[in-house]
Amino acid sequence: MAVCIFCKFVRNEVSCHKIFESDNTLAFLDINPYAKGHTIIIPKIHGEIIFDLPEEQIKELMVDVRKVMQRIQEVLNPDGFNVGWNHNTAGGQVVPHLHIHIFPRYNRDGGGSMHSIVNNSGKMSVDEVMSLFRQNFSAALD
Ligand code: AMP
Ligand code: ZN
Repeated sequence: MAVCIFCKFVRNEVSCHKIFESDNTLAFLDINPYAKGHTIIIPKIHGEIIFDLPEEQIKELMVDVRKVMQRIQEVLNPDGFNVGWNHNTAGGQVVPHLHIHIFPRYNRDGGGSMHSIVNNSGKMSVDEVMSLFRQNFSAALD
């Protein structure tokens, strides 16, 4: 099977605009930026979605998200950030290697918040949705 593009960055087979690296993560500038300093951070181990990776890897990834944000803050001095990831095709994921987008935000940059990603809550009320969680996890929620 073909090696994914992000794994090729990890293996140094293809170059990228690397701005941070640790033992288990790599961060690079997005090639098609939606903000100045739009950055992608990945776990070096290949997994398509967050459920595919061990918990320890995810913990380290989140710690390094913070380090990369601090680095961006130092270099570009943005006024804010949006941080998140597209999970599966329904969530807009194109590259099948878990990656977290870090969007530096600047006052009056014309962008929105996370709430502008989707606005389609469906027909169920919040109480009805909650009842589904109670059916499965009642003990933990009482
Ligand atoms: P998505 O899978 O939709 O969360 O986004 C994949 C992201 O990877 C996009 O923002 C692309 O611009 C970015 N991307 C794809 N190929 C490269 C590359 N060779 N170098 C840097 N970023 C890339
Ligand atoms: Zn990969």
